[in-house]
Amino acid sequence: MHEKTRLIHAGRTPERLARTVGPPIQRGSTVLLPDSRALYDEDLGYGRAGLAAQAALIDALTELEGAQSVQLYPSGLSALTGALLAVLKAGDSVLLSEGAYKPTRQFCQNVLGRLGVRIQLHDARLSAEEVLALVADDTRIILLESPSSLTFEIQDVPAIAAGARARGVLTLIDNTWAAGLYFKPLAHGVDISVQALTKYVCGHSDIFMGSAAAADPAIGALLEAGVHDLGWAVTGEAAYDMLRGLRTLPTRLARHDQSARAIAGWLAEQPQVLKVLHPALPGDPGHAIWARDYSGACGLFGLVMRPAPLSAQHAFLDALKLFGLGFSWGGFESLAIRCDPQLASRTFVTAMEGPLMRLHIGLEDEADLTRDLTAALAAYDTATG
Ligand SMILES: *Cc1c(COP(=O)(O)O)cnc(C)c1O
Repeated sequence: MHEKTRLIHAGRTPERLARTVGPPIQRGSTVLLPDSRALYDEDLGYGRAGLAAQAALIDALTELEGAQSVQLYPSGLSALTGALLAVLKAGDSVLLSEGAYKPTRQFCQNVLGRLGVRIQLHDARLSAEEVLALVADDTRIILLESPSSLTFEIQDVPAIAAGARARGVLTLIDNTWAAGLYFKPLAHGVDISVQALTKYVCGHSDIFMGSAAAADPAIGALLEAGVHDLGWAVTGEAAYDMLRGLRTLPTRLARHDQSARAIAGWLAEQPQVLKVLHPALPGDPGHAIWARDYSGACGLFGLVMRPAPLSAQHAFLDALKLFGLGFSWGGFESLAIRCDPQLASRTFVTAMEGPLMRLHIGLEDEADLTRDLTAALAAYDTATG
């Protein structure tokens, strides 16, 4: 054979036993089929569907979600947009919580609107009965997020899901806050459970991925067809790293929860703070439903500050030494942002009683973080005058 041919046929993967704890990372678009008959028979005919590491991650997420099937997407946002596109057609409408992640709302308004899907926004503070009263003849799906992004309202998800099912309407929840661990949407009657794995499952702020899980095989088949039709794929390397994050998720999340609850409780007593938005705190409006449905809380919560000029908000954030200023969360590190510019684009809750801040409590020592916040609150006072 010519060298050109030998170089192509040499060095094929040896068939050795895989004895590592994690799955092998296979790289492959082409998948070789064993014989001619298998070409159109095997369900794995092309690498975009995922190889060993993606399959191992899907198995683990199926366990986490209590699902019948799980689909992977290259980001949390594409899991949300992909799941919606998989079930909607022109003439349908989406009943969308205003508390949904802002890019999800923008996708609904910009893209689904253009495709002939009507968008109905509902206030995240509505009761289950009030949400269900908004269901119209064309409502195909209700999109929930609980607690809401930025404002942390808790929705009565089981009651909304039960009422929706009785009306033949689907429900989808963005369950990123509970990381698939502290709230089990499918067990509470939700049809599609989505999370941005980018946040807590990854846990290290360095990979994008999303998942959509379903308990009903018919919905699972729609989601799978959607992934295939739209061409989403994730790499074996990313799936491997995501699975590694999943192994330590319960341990990390318990630690985030413990520190965040302690710091949130302490912040609620500080004179610069009007209120803390954290559903695990007994005074929170969502506390009763949270305590009924959730087995824990993550490290993310909100803070409504005593009214002060913008310069004081900058002084607060700029005084933080251990908290990074950044828009993500779910990693090992503490983060802070101010939220008012994002609230301004909303319809129902456009502002709180004072400046709204969001904190992500990471895995640093709790006393060190409290000291950092003490200095920032002092800077807030100084800048307020
Ligand atoms: C970050 C986030 C997403 C989007 O995840 P990406 O992987 O960044 O696309 C979706 N929903 C919520 C609630 C998020 O916080």
